[in-house]
Amino acid sequence: MKIVSVQGTVFTYPTFRSVDAAGHSHPGPEKQAKMAMITVSTDSGHSGYAFAPPEVIRPHVLEAFARKVLVGENPLMREKLWMALEHWQRGSAGQLTDRALAAIEQALWDLAGRVLGQPVYRLLGGYRDKVPAYGSTMCGDELPGGLSTPEEYAAFAQKLVARGYKAIKLHTWMPPVRFAPDPAMDIKACAAVREAVGPDIDLMLDGYHNYSRTDALRIGRALEALNFAWFEEMMNEQSMSSYAWLADQLDIPVLGPESLSGKHYSRGDWVKAGASDILRAGVPGVGGITPTMKVAHLAESFGMNCEVHGNGAAALTVCAAIKNTRWYERGLLHPFLEYDDVPAYLNRLADPMDHEGYVHLSQEPGLGEDINFDYIAAHTVQTY
Ligand code: MG
Repeated sequence: MKIVSVQGTVFTYPTFRSVDAAGHSHPGPEKQAKMAMITVSTDSGHSGYAFAPPEVIRPHVLEAFARKVLVGENPLMREKLWMALEHWQRGSAGQLTDRALAAIEQALWDLAGRVLGQPVYRLLGGYRDKVPAYGSTMCGDELPGGLSTPEEYAAFAQKLVARGYKAIKLHTWMPPVRFAPDPAMDIKACAAVREAVGPDIDLMLDGYHNYSRTDALRIGRALEALNFAWFEEMMNEQSMSSYAWLADQLDIPVLGPESLSGKHYSRGDWVKAGASDILRAGVPGVGGITPTMKVAHLAESFGMNCEVHGNGAAALTVCAAIKNTRWYERGLLHPFLEYDDVPAYLNRLADPMDHEGYVHLSQEPGLGEDINFDYIAAHTVQTY
């Protein structure tokens, strides 16, 4: 079996999400957004698929790197192909990003599942068929009735508990919100949510990502008093020493790094430095499912959990393949948005959640995305 083609398909779909000046998602008026699908096909008639923003897997990325490395190769030799792509990153002048690498590798995993007739989480190891989810809120905003006050966070948290969530993570206010960042407001929101949901719901905070050490320590102490489960990305992750300084002083687990580059290699240094108590890796952020598994196994070797960043089929697949993660991140959630609505380009949700707060894995071959190929064909604006 050999790979014969790597194709990109850009299509439009309706969304109610807008992005602010700093890149954070918020509810907005309905508009058409663009998504790209990468398709890796073989001479055996099989194809694997992955979705990514169009700018991540733009024509140059597929032409200069993906096709060069993949075409003619056995698609099941994922480690070889990933290593070859990673080698290309150095000479790509920054054009072949970790996110592009992840999208290409994700399509290879989906292809492997479809070829072998198995859901990918079983190929990766298979630890469970359902994963408890935490509801992950959008960042705070200035929309009345949205997430603009501690009281609104508290009311929304109660709705999430009624929906079935047994854990909730707050993203609080960040610029360009006028009053952000504000440690006192973050602490008020966390206290209001704890008061609203009671002691039995797990809570986490992912606040402004550039607090100073002293502000971070102050917030962390407050979260300890509120019995929060972890404190995430409160400072710039490029300063590992600042995280080691903070983790050394706090009892609440410090979680990270999420946005730091360096794949599994940089996570190894964080473990050695004691810079976090729980490791973090997201499939797009570290360059694919395989490096995310390496981070998880690294964490396991040191008695640590690895919490997987982000939602979607690939993140859920990793969560179901390993033991040392507690939650799947479901979101981002907002009072004005209905997360359970199926995106137009899928036939059903990749992460359906029951009323006990468990997300169930698809038993279909591949990564578990039930793709609406007819919709994509009818809304395609570019192929390459
Ligand atoms: Mg985060």
